[in-house]
Amino acid sequence: MSVKSISVHHQLKSILIGLSLITCLNGCLPSAAPKSTGRGSTEPTRDDNLALGNPSGASVSDPNNYLLVKSAYVLSYSRSRGIANWVSWHLSSAWKGGSPRTNDFKPDPAIPTGWYAARTSDYTNTGFDRGHLCPSDDRDSSPDDNAATFLLSNIVPQAPRHNREVWKNLEEYERQLTTTGNEVYVIAGTYGAGGTGQNGYAAKLANDKLTVPATLWKVIVVLPTGSNDAERVSTDTRIIAVNIPNNQTAADKPWRAYLTSVDALEDLTGYDFLSNVPASIQRIIEARIDSGNS
Ligand code: MN
Ligand code: MN
Repeated sequence: MSVKSISVHHQLKSILIGLSLITCLNGCLPSAAPKSTGRGSTEPTRDDNLALGNPSGASVSDPNNYLLVKSAYVLSYSRSRGIANWVSWHLSSAWKGGSPRTNDFKPDPAIPTGWYAARTSDYTNTGFDRGHLCPSDDRDSSPDDNAATFLLSNIVPQAPRHNREVWKNLEEYERQLTTTGNEVYVIAGTYGAGGTGQNGYAAKLANDKLTVPATLWKVIVVLPTGSNDAERVSTDTRIIAVNIPNNQTAADKPWRAYLTSVDALEDLTGYDFLSNVPASIQRIIEARIDSGNS
């Protein structure tokens, strides 16, 4: 190789490296398969928010179980309740970053024309917080990801102490799990009507357009960081399920006081959680009540 051709070769090589960096910045996330570190372990990735199943068979043909798929999370919306039935998301450290809290609550433009879509002012002076189902802090790797959590389809009327104390503590516990070698799947949802906020009891807000849920529930599946998550769920997999009344005094107790089984939540809601996991495994892990430890 001549000196000239080596130099051209090097130039081409740096151009190619530059191009692949640009391509990667624009298109490398989310990635489906974890990268191997070459030591038999895996690095955290962003995985399918609905990998463990669609609990209510939500679809775009049912207005009260209406499927909204976003890159940050997947949601089942109820037109008649004006709030989500549930939101499902994957959480690993790959979703985390330094993007600031956008704090920009706004109507979800994906709600079909002609349906009522909640507005920020619907919550003003009601005594209820604009409570996130998928938390802002779980989606802070980019401004777009974070902004998605402030769409009002992901927000429900939540008693302030419930939001700021017991529910927040559980959210922090979930994130903590992802800093110690785990990834988690979370499905958070609403049940019933009628909660008690700072100004007392209400079943609806905004001229009856928005339902105040009676409880907020959660199913959390904890897996060691790895790939093919639905296939790795076993009879040993830790599942944390809670159902917490939407009132101020619920926060007098820790989230551990509200532990329940997935079976109990399935009976309550009529949903089938973890439907992508073999039935023989669901039967065992869904009957269990977590200890709340470690
Ligand atoms: Mn919150
Ligand atoms: Mn199930």
